[in-house]
Amino acid sequence: MSLLPGNKAPSFGGVSYYNGDFHHVCLEDYEGYWLVLFFIPTDFGCIGTSSLLELEKVVDDLDNLHCKVVACSRSSAVVHEIYASVEPKFGGVHGVSIPILEDPSLDIVRNFHLLKEFGGHSFNGYFIINPEGVIRARTISDLPVAIHIKHLVRKVKTLINVEWENQLLDEKLDPPVEDENPEFLTKLKDTMTPGDTFYINNFLHQQDFPITKTGKLQSPINLPEMSATPDLEPLTFAYTPPWEEKYEYYFSENETTPEMDPQPTSVTNNGHSWIVNVPGTFNANLHGGPLDGKYRLYKLHCHWGSSEHSIHGHHKDGELHFVHYNLKYNSMDEARNKEDGICVVSVLLTINDEYPNPEIEKVGDVLELVQCKGESAETPVPLDMDGLLPADRGYYAYHGSFTTPDYSEVVQWIVMVEPICVSSQSVDLMKDLSYGGPGDRTISYNCRPIQKTGDREIKLYVPNSNQDNSEEGLEGA
Ligand SMILES: [Zn+2]
Repeated sequence: MSLLPGNKAPSFGGVSYYNGDFHHVCLEDYEGYWLVLFFIPTDFGCIGTSSLLELEKVVDDLDNLHCKVVACSRSSAVVHEIYASVEPKFGGVHGVSIPILEDPSLDIVRNFHLLKEFGGHSFNGYFIINPEGVIRARTISDLPVAIHIKHLVRKVKTLINVEWENQLLDEKLDPPVEDENPEFLTKLKDTMTPGDTFYINNFLHQQDFPITKTGKLQSPINLPEMSATPDLEPLTFAYTPPWEEKYEYYFSENETTPEMDPQPTSVTNNGHSWIVNVPGTFNANLHGGPLDGKYRLYKLHCHWGSSEHSIHGHHKDGELHFVHYNLKYNSMDEARNKEDGICVVSVLLTINDEYPNPEIEKVGDVLELVQCKGESAETPVPLDMDGLLPADRGYYAYHGSFTTPDYSEVVQWIVMVEPICVSSQSVDLMKDLSYGGPGDRTISYNCRPIQKTGDREIKLYVPNSNQDNSEEGLEGA
């Protein structure tokens, strides 16, 4: 396996010493954080010791950037304990808070391709690993050359800044952050999410979509606490499949068998999500609320690792998107660049192993069969789209954009207030889906970060809130 930037970091783990005790640490402990894995050849070495002491001075700065540091040397954890108890003037690293991992077998060093052949120890070096466990930078030097810690901090900041500002990685950029700019650090701390890093890996090409910078209607957004919007109507979801409609009709009127057999539901891994294309024969549609006309349900896909939208500042564990197009256009293709072309209904997912929604679990049950990009599988029983909607039909409505390329601002968003439940097992299976073939990186997270709301109007429909405008409603309540 190559250890160039862009590749998954080899998994590592073992006993470390810090804070006066032995602790097990491993790569997985740092999921969701940036990580600097810092190799020194051995404890009590001159260069390694001065590096650790320098590194200790920037640990808090890095921590403010959601970046953790783990050191590793071939010495055993017991030697680390002694090393950590000896004062620097006697060659130790007393006062250093960084976990120092033991690697007496040299397995970790070997897996990171840092073993100096015939030397029995590692080179000086470090790897910067992103919150998804992907290597983003590395530095290796031979023993006499110390690691420049200021450069290390600069690299971490550049990497984080790249995704934050959605800029291309370019070492020639002016230093994006100055060490003495506390404002920047605070801002970063407040805005960083694991979703930001998703962009480094997946959407660097969003440079090709200027609207991501110039647009004023980008999605997702946070949906604030607010009161119900007067006169906003409820939505009508007509998601019943035709075979059920016909069955009811014939059974009651003519008592004959249904004309149309239930159509299977096919679940596909498209390399970014799982999707369900709604068969052309299935005229599921949506109208009412803020919508002008009827919108036809076209497909369904999912985001996980978080939800894309947040409600009152809180994210959930995932988000289903029901993509519809306006039936005044002939097809999705025709509708997708029209201002009133698209409506996406969003249903947030919350993990609950006791009462998962049975329809989402039908998808979960076949995810193992679609691990690779391009693979499809059919659910044994067709999906009941209606069953994927929450019982409470309260919703937020606002105008926004697609959250994936091309980010065009043509989407009437409907975000249901009440989430539906999903089992942790199904979410784990989603996170195991691959961006490509077997053994490729898995889609552990596929959400776009929150965008600026600006002066957009957000509407809220609350059932039984008397906002269906009539005085009768008041009397009835
Ligand atoms: Zn989506």
